[in-house]
Amino acid sequence: MKTIKDLKIDGKRVFIRCDFNVPKDEFGNITDDRRIRSALQTIRYCIDRDCKIILASHYERPQPGQYEEKFSLAPVAKRLHTLLKIKNEIYMANDVVGTDAQEKAAKMGAGDILLLENLRYEAGETKDDEAFAKQLADLADFYVNDAFGACHRKHASIHAITKFFDQDHKAVGFLMEKEITFFSKVIEHPIRPFVAVVGGSKVSGKLQALTNLLNKVDKVIIGGGMAFTFLKAQGYEVGNSLVEDDLIDEAKEIMVKAKEMDIKFYLPVDVVVAPEFSENTTVKFLPIQEIPKGWMGLDIGPASSRLFREALNDAQTIIWNGPMGVYEMDRFSKGSIDMSHHIAQSHSTTIVGGGDTADVVNKAGDADEMTFVSTGGGASLKLIEGEELPGLEALR
Ligand code: AMP
Repeated sequence: MKTIKDLKIDGKRVFIRCDFNVPKDEFGNITDDRRIRSALQTIRYCIDRDCKIILASHYERPQPGQYEEKFSLAPVAKRLHTLLKIKNEIYMANDVVGTDAQEKAAKMGAGDILLLENLRYEAGETKDDEAFAKQLADLADFYVNDAFGACHRKHASIHAITKFFDQDHKAVGFLMEKEITFFSKVIEHPIRPFVAVVGGSKVSGKLQALTNLLNKVDKVIIGGGMAFTFLKAQGYEVGNSLVEDDLIDEAKEIMVKAKEMDIKFYLPVDVVVAPEFSENTTVKFLPIQEIPKGWMGLDIGPASSRLFREALNDAQTIIWNGPMGVYEMDRFSKGSIDMSHHIAQSHSTTIVGGGDTADVVNKAGDADEMTFVSTGGGASLKLIEGEELPGLEALR
């Protein structure tokens, strides 16, 4: 697979597929611009080579054909301008491949940047439609994919568009190269002990990743909502905690397999429980043996936090995906924040994947201490599952 450095892009029109799907607050302000900052290296490389740069991204899930302002990429253009610290303005098209985009693209000079509107305003994007992909491709001489977070989707700007560029005219950008290198290097050749910390809401979303990880890691630490399916499989009363009853057998199988393979398997030993899913309610810190009927576990307890820290002590490589509790509510965020600190303070290679997990790390102020924080949750999970991503397959 080629990287942008292998392409002869000097002075040419370059289409860069970015992932600018950044979170915004209720007033439309961007609350975390990590994904925009991550794209800067590739964009700057193109500016330095006098390219005409066409940027494209999806943003959330608008109804195709309906140009609602809340789904517009206009705030991204502004933030990008601030972060790039360039004099020239960034041209914002008010459509995706319509007359405005085409006219603005035709007028571009060396080093100019044009941001197309939200790709998902066009129905063809999510349908991997070739006609739409061709319209995008016609805007440029080169195609660069730097949208790691969207690479697990077979969409027009990720997949179909690559058919219109030959091997010398398409490549991955710097961010994408970094993401793939980190994940594949860590997963294929980890320095041991290699520990996987897995949390989040459900086992179902991460079952394949967990199964694949068992073949690679030395220890698995499970937290978050998914722990309760494992605890129930062990026969504990878990009250109203999140449980996937149909996966109890699979959970048992995973634990048996871990034992057979001599993988150390850690579950919480205590939990923060509440009678309802709310921040303003009574909470109790209890051992898992004592979860009352009708109550639900919403975070790991302090004993689990200490136990997990011990388990991480000798780790040389740690991969973390999924919070330890309902971290969005302050009362149930301590387990996740502590886990972030434990991982950040370890002397190991630390890879964090997943939007929620990256959020926790930011909240904890640990982002700079981690070796690598991935920008793409779903895509990084697919890599851990051992699956080929459509966006990468298309570039091979
Ligand atoms: P995921 O998308 O599967 O990584 O899950 C992330 C979500 O899991 C977050 O929104 C958390 O609030 C949620 N979560 C973590 N622990 C629990 C729990 N014990 N009960 C319910 N939800 C949880």
